[in-house]
Amino acid sequence: MKDYNSILQELENSGNLRRLPEIVHKGNLVEKGGLTMLNLSSNDYLGLASRRDLQQAFLEEWQEKQYPFSSSSSRLLTGNFRIYTELEQVIAERFNREATLLFNSGYHANTGILPALADKQTLILADKLVHASIIDGILLSNAPFQRFRHNDYDQLETLLQKNTGQYEQIFIVTESIFSMDGDVADLRRLVSLKKSYPDVCLYVDEAHAIGVRGKNGLGIAEEQDCIQEIDLLVGTFGKALASMGAYVICSRVIREYLINCMRPLIFSTALPPAQIAWTQFIFERLPEFSEERERLATTSHLLIDALSGKGGEISGSHIIPYIIGDNKDCILKAEELQRKGFYCLPVRPPTVPKGTARIRFSLTADVTTEDIQQLIQAL
Ligand SMILES: *Cc1c(COP(=O)(O)O)cnc(C)c1O
Repeated sequence: MKDYNSILQELENSGNLRRLPEIVHKGNLVEKGGLTMLNLSSNDYLGLASRRDLQQAFLEEWQEKQYPFSSSSSRLLTGNFRIYTELEQVIAERFNREATLLFNSGYHANTGILPALADKQTLILADKLVHASIIDGILLSNAPFQRFRHNDYDQLETLLQKNTGQYEQIFIVTESIFSMDGDVADLRRLVSLKKSYPDVCLYVDEAHAIGVRGKNGLGIAEEQDCIQEIDLLVGTFGKALASMGAYVICSRVIREYLINCMRPLIFSTALPPAQIAWTQFIFERLPEFSEERERLATTSHLLIDALSGKGGEISGSHIIPYIIGDNKDCILKAEELQRKGFYCLPVRPPTVPKGTARIRFSLTADVTTEDIQQLIQAL
C-alpha cells in the first residue's frame, strides 16, 4: 500500500490538511474550541434550518401522514412513493414548466445529468468557476469540453462561432450565483447567445440562488425573467431550503430520458419520503419568505459596501469575498475574526486562484444589521 500517512503529513506541513471541524450549533451561533461565534459560513441562507415553528408544524403534518424514514429502494424499483411525484408536480407548476425530476443531492444531479445527455458528439462549454460536481459530471460524460473565462460571454460567443456545426449539440453550463465570488451570471445574455446558434442547450445550477432570489424565491432565473428559456434548470434543497436533495426542471422528454439513463438516479436508494415531505413543506412556503430575502439583501449590501475595493465589489449576492491575497495573512485574519466572535473561514488556492486567498462570508437571514455593523467594526 502507498504511504498515505506521509502524504497526509506533507499536507499538514504545508497547511493544507483538511479536518472535520467539531462544532456545536445553537441557532445562528456555533461553538468551537471554547468560542461562541456568529455563523458567517452557513448555507442556511433563509435561516430556516433552526426554525422551531416550521419544524413543529411539519411534525404535526407528519403525525398524520407518517411518511417513512427510508424509501428502501431506488425509485425505479419500489422506492417511488407518491410524495416524489407530488413534489415534482408542485415544482413544475410553480415554475410553470413541463417537468421536474428529483435527485438525492446536487452532487448526484450534476454528476448524473451531463453523463446521461452528453456524448462524443456533444461539446460542453462551461464557465471556468463552476462547482466541482459539475466538473466531475463533465469528466464522467467523456464529452469534449472547454472552459470559458469566468462570465466572459464574448469568449463564449467566439467558442460558439468556432464550433457551431461541428457537433450534434453544444451545452453551455454555468451557475447563477457563483460559490466563491458570489457574483451573478447574466442568464438573459446566455439565453440570447443560446438562441443565436443552432442546437445549443443551456444548463444552469441555482444551488445558491433558489429560495434566496426572485419575487417568489425561484432564483436568478425568476429575477431575470427567463425561467422558460433555460433547458436544464438545476437547484438544490440543502442550502436555503434547509433540507436535502436536488431537482432539474426540464422538458417531459428529457425527464423520461434521464429516468432511463441517469446512473445516480437509477443505482441509488431514493431519499426518505419524510425528507421529501419536509422539502415540499418548505418549497410550498417559499413565496412567504420575502421578509427573510429582504433582510438578507439589506445585510449583504451593507457588507458589500464595507468591503468595497477589498473584494466586496465583486459580489452581487449574500456570498461576499474579502480578498486578502496571501495565504498566511488570510488564515491569521480569519483566526482574529473568530476570536472576536465571527465564525468565518479562509479559502485558499487551489480552491480559488493563486494570490487571492480570501475570507468567504456567507450571510443568512438570521444575521442582523447590528451583527453586520459589529463585523464591519471588527474588520
Ligand atoms: C452545494 C452545491 C452543489 C451540491 O449540492 P448538494 O446538494 O450539497 O450535493 C452543487 N452545485 C453548486 C453550485 C453548489 O453550490
